[in-house]
Amino acid sequence: MIKRCPEHGFFRGEMCDCGFAGQLILDEAKTEQLGRLVAGMLRHFPGDLGLSMDSRGWVDITSASDALRKRHRWASEEMLIALVESDPKQRYEIREGKVRARYGHSVNVELDHPSNTLPKLYYGASEEEADRIIEIGLKPASQRYVHLSTSPEKAWHVATFRTSNPRVIQTDAAAAQRDGVKMMTVNPDIIISEKIPPKYLSILSCKDLRKN
Ligand SMILES: [Zn+2]
Repeated sequence: MIKRCPEHGFFRGEMCDCGFAGQLILDEAKTEQLGRLVAGMLRHFPGDLGLSMDSRGWVDITSASDALRKRHRWASEEMLIALVESDPKQRYEIREGKVRARYGHSVNVELDHPSNTLPKLYYGASEEEADRIIEIGLKPASQRYVHLSTSPEKAWHVATFRTSNPRVIQTDAAAAQRDGVKMMTVNPDIIISEKIPPKYLSILSCKDLRKN
């Protein structure tokens, strides 16, 4: 659930960190319902809701809440703001009367987050996927950008949800970026990238993984 503390703003859970119970904005079920619609609206199908999105992914916040209200009559602009500001993964942001998803798009956007500064980045895959990626490069499948991990351990962990035998691919991010591959820092844990050609990729051996 999402509540509001008069002192500290919107928060998730029963109680604000300050100990105040706050005012209920969205119960558990509505948080879930509205959350799913907001993700769809800002990442995948703004057009289906009659919204125009600019090339950086921004949508007018009043138009966005009007669109939400068409699906859920109880929805309000305050609820949209509450959902964005209390999001534990900071998936969205609001600026100058507009709202956008910070990552996870399938629609065609050109995001403008700061450039990645880490020299090496990582991607976890199954054994078969890894062989293919090394040959043809790392390309986003249904997403606009590839999501990379900041350490081999994190990449390995992500891949364990999909395969029992993960491989970790290392990207020479510094060289790729020097050659014009755009990589951006969404937050300290999430880096997104344009398609990465094979020459910047290598599979880490178990020995390398242990060393890291
Ligand atoms: Zn508080």
